[in-house]
Amino acid sequence: MQRLIDGYRRFREETWPQQKARFEELAERGQSPKTLVIACSDSRVDPQMIFSAAPGELFVVRNVANLVPPYMPDAAFHGTSAALEFAVRVLKVERVLVLGHALCGGVAALLHGAPPEAQDFVVGWISIAAEARERVLRCDPAEQQTEGEHEAVRISLANLMTFPWVVEAVQAGRLTLHGAHFGVATGRLMLLGENGEFHPAS
Ligand SMILES: [Zn+2]
Repeated sequence: MQRLIDGYRRFREETWPQQKARFEELAERGQSPKTLVIACSDSRVDPQMIFSAAPGELFVVRNVANLVPPYMPDAAFHGTSAALEFAVRVLKVERVLVLGHALCGGVAALLHGAPPEAQDFVVGWISIAAEARERVLRCDPAEQQTEGEHEAVRISLANLMTFPWVVEAVQAGRLTLHGAHFGVATGRLMLLGENGEFHPAS
């Protein structure tokens, strides 16, 4: 815990004085982020850092393997869908970016089975991408992990289009959907192109 308190102290001393005016304005006017990022909970993939984003710029939801479930308005606790609803319908973001990443443990669990200690929730959650499993396991073993990570992004994008108000906003030209993949070891971002393949962002 001391590590966190020390970090907070540095935030108060160094970051806060620089960002104070921005935070005060955000407090007064409210947030109006233009982008919803759906990223993995992985500690190595921080959207705010990767996009050099300022406070108030990104509305972020992170979960295991950056997955979007299909639209299922029922009594279950849909954390990701709730964040999506708030971002798209209330904040009216202009874009949704699904950010996958290299070395994703959630994707590894999808392909090769979840750790025995992660059976209560992880198994059910990653089954959102189950349709990709067999397809990916037919690939060259050296490419399976990356291909699985790409598929997780593609499936999330497809599932976004099962939400009626996402479809409505996309068709009205108010919302665009994007996919990306971050290389943890390289720091490089790949973007999902219209041809369905990933290419370097710059
Ligand atoms: Zn991950």
